[in-house]
Amino acid sequence: MYDRLQAHLQKELADIREAGLYKNERVITTPQGAEIKVNSGAEVLNFCANNYLGLSNNPKLIAAAKEALDSHGYGLSSVRFICGTQDLHKRLEAKIAEFFGTEDTILYAACFDANGGVFEPLLGEEDAIISDSLNHASIIDGVRLCKAQRYRYANADMADLEEQLKLAQAQRFRLIVTDGVFSMDGNVAPMDKIHELAQKYDAMVMVDECHSAGVVGETGRGVTELFNIRGKIEIITGTLGKAFGGAIGGFTTGKKEIIEMLRQRSRPYLFSNSIPPTVASAGIKMFDMMAETNELQDRLHENTAYFVKRMVDAGFDIKPTRSAICAVMLYDAKLSQDMAAKLLDEGIYVIGFYYPVVPKGQARIRVQISAAHKREHLDKCIAAFTKVGKELGVLKG
Ligand SMILES: *Cc1c(COP(=O)(O)O)cnc(C)c1O
Repeated sequence: MYDRLQAHLQKELADIREAGLYKNERVITTPQGAEIKVNSGAEVLNFCANNYLGLSNNPKLIAAAKEALDSHGYGLSSVRFICGTQDLHKRLEAKIAEFFGTEDTILYAACFDANGGVFEPLLGEEDAIISDSLNHASIIDGVRLCKAQRYRYANADMADLEEQLKLAQAQRFRLIVTDGVFSMDGNVAPMDKIHELAQKYDAMVMVDECHSAGVVGETGRGVTELFNIRGKIEIITGTLGKAFGGAIGGFTTGKKEIIEMLRQRSRPYLFSNSIPPTVASAGIKMFDMMAETNELQDRLHENTAYFVKRMVDAGFDIKPTRSAICAVMLYDAKLSQDMAAKLLDEGIYVIGFYYPVVPKGQARIRVQISAAHKREHLDKCIAAFTKVGKELGVLKG
């Protein structure tokens, strides 16, 4: 039979290539950082990593991971509830709860698993999930695995959310679900208003903090800090794979009975391996560092403000952002690809996005700022954008 599937796959792959949607992976030969080397030997400045706090190659985290190799070994060869729980996992869970001001935390192999395993154990057919239309794929998949009634509201549209909440009043439990920061625009979910509507229409709230934790809020505690609703959100999910060191690992943190039930019933937790001691140990170190100083968050906020201001002054059209994601709007798919290629020639690594990743006519280059960027990196990036922008005629008057 494989010859028939093979022919089918070959055709589908050719179609993907033809549509210009084929994903090529660029190979990096150095640690993740502001300055990286790709396998052609070229050195480029990286502006497309989720390495918001510049911790992916942090010496203290590397040392903590190495220590754990000696003290706790390489792997657990077990799920948590059989023999995969070390003191390190419990300590990391407590640190995460402390960071977010929540009651308890459960670790997963990734946030994809946290989101995939959060709905089904908590909600059933008689309940409602009210989900932002731009939520992450893992939330969409998690919702699909759950029998709750589904309602969808337009991105960050509070009038629409209110409509959907009215429609969902017949259900037993209601859960509003949103990303904290939306990855394509860099906009923040209006959590204060979402919280208010949840109160008014008797609903709970879940927020996915993957792009907001460590980034948003004065001390990087995420959207609940930004909107002054710490401790008031029932469920927060997040990743250790972005701002928090960038290795791997996800978590759900929130009300203690919810976390307790997830430990009993959440399938990606029950049927998948424990995170390795190296990652747990470096995670603990990372949260200890966060508790000591806000230096990295401050630098990230400064860098982002500096970059946005200079780019707007240079004549670029940047979507309003409250995160470290800056969408440089070009509106034309081909232009976004040409511009990203020319920027790479200038030593700036960024990615152009177009339909279907973003809506038709909304093509853009997404720039992700990091605390690891030095002023000279930002200046070099802005200069390259300006040079290429002039060549391609995208600068405003
Ligand atoms: C990256 C991301 C995830 C997945 O996180 P992993 O830990 O890499 O699986 C989930 N949700 C959102 C909003 C994300 O940006």
